Amino acid sequence: MAKVPFLTEEQARKIAEVYPTPFHIYDEKGIRENARNVNKAFAWNKGFKEYFAVKATPTPKIIEILKEEGCGADCSSYTELQISEAVGLKGHDIMFSSNVTPAEDFIYAAKLGAIINFDDITHIDFFEKLAPFPETVCCRYNPGGVFQISNEIMDHPSQAKYGMTREQIKEAFLKLKAKGVKNFGIHAFLASSTVANTYYPMLSRMLFQLAVELKEETGVHISFINLSGGIGIPYRPEESASDIFVIGEGVRKAYEEILTPNGMDDVAIFTEMGRFMLGPYGALVTKAIHEKHIYKEYIGVDACAANLMRPAMYGAYHHITVLGKENAKLDHEYDITGGLCENNDKFAIDRVMPKIEIGDLLFIHDTGAHGFSMGYNYNGKLRSAELLLKEDGTVEMIRRAETNKDYFATFDFTGLFDNI
Ligand SMILES: *Cc1c(COP(=O)(O)O)cnc(C)c1O
Repeated sequence: MAKVPFLTEEQARKIAEVYPTPFHIYDEKGIRENARNVNKAFAWNKGFKEYFAVKATPTPKIIEILKEEGCGADCSSYTELQISEAVGLKGHDIMFSSNVTPAEDFIYAAKLGAIINFDDITHIDFFEKLAPFPETVCCRYNPGGVFQISNEIMDHPSQAKYGMTREQIKEAFLKLKAKGVKNFGIHAFLASSTVANTYYPMLSRMLFQLAVELKEETGVHISFINLSGGIGIPYRPEESASDIFVIGEGVRKAYEEILTPNGMDDVAIFTEMGRFMLGPYGALVTKAIHEKHIYKEYIGVDACAANLMRPAMYGAYHHITVLGKENAKLDHEYDITGGLCENNDKFAIDRVMPKIEIGDLLFIHDTGAHGFSMGYNYNGKLRSAELLLKEDGTVEMIRRAETNKDYFATFDFTGLFDNI
């Protein structure tokens, strides 16, 4: 399926007159429609809530839009908690799914009344010295071994640093129960970026079964199951999208087969999706500023891996549309590169594309999640602005671009940068 940008060339050029490239831009309409579909797909479950994984797009305006659509926030650090508090999320609107958690983060999460998701059994004693136990807590489970979906290995939980073993989660529940905790949740994140509609249903089956066993073994009240994130998006044009309605129905089926017959039909389903909520609804717009012909053909753009790290870091594919040349012949092959002094700073390698001229605007698709947020300042590169394409077609800047002053702000050499 052709990937269609949510901006035309004309729109992008108008925007670039006001906000210089490169910039990340988000499509409010797409974000809202998708969030509504997620809520519809799980509407069969009374307590359903999506806690948007803040790390994917830690921009207050985005969290606010999702809040208006009924979503909470999944945080794993102090500043992510601050963003959530700033947009008015509180108490059980916030899930705190952290690991290697500093004491001050636990204290802050407890103060906000967030649902704390313990990554490890030793965190219980660690937490006890910091704050009283809330009535409702969650524990993160790691089944070990290999996680498979119909003979395909999805991931290796045994190699993952997260969560507790089967023995430990039982012990943790008993321990927390003895300390007065009343309501328990179970959380697991076993595979990332899965476009298979079977991932959540498979994971649910495993966690529902575990919930039934843990209830029998410990006598605790299990009030929710958190399926966490991991639902993927079609980065490549030939991939097909996950169908959230099929996924929702698959989870319902597992629920009705396992939880309902065991008298556990008050269990709420939570999710912590990041990529699925935002990925397709963000793009990085960048301008071609150089061409180079050596052993290969290169197009140099004004964005670099500091704006979007996924290709450099994981070799991830991001589709690129040359705006205005949507229907042009694909008769050139390029490496599309940024200007970092790192040869992995390439948005595309050997990509077949239309002929690119200097000044063309390139729309790098699917940067809405884990895009801007993975940015960094290598080579002294500055972070770009983030823009919102609103439902009425106007554009709002939701984060300004970094300036040189921001970059120098952490130096304390009095006077040195005063004239810059
Ligand atoms: C990263 C993360 C998510 C979101 O993952 P996606 O792949 O973006 O859906 C959810 N929960 C936790 C605990 C995470 O670390």
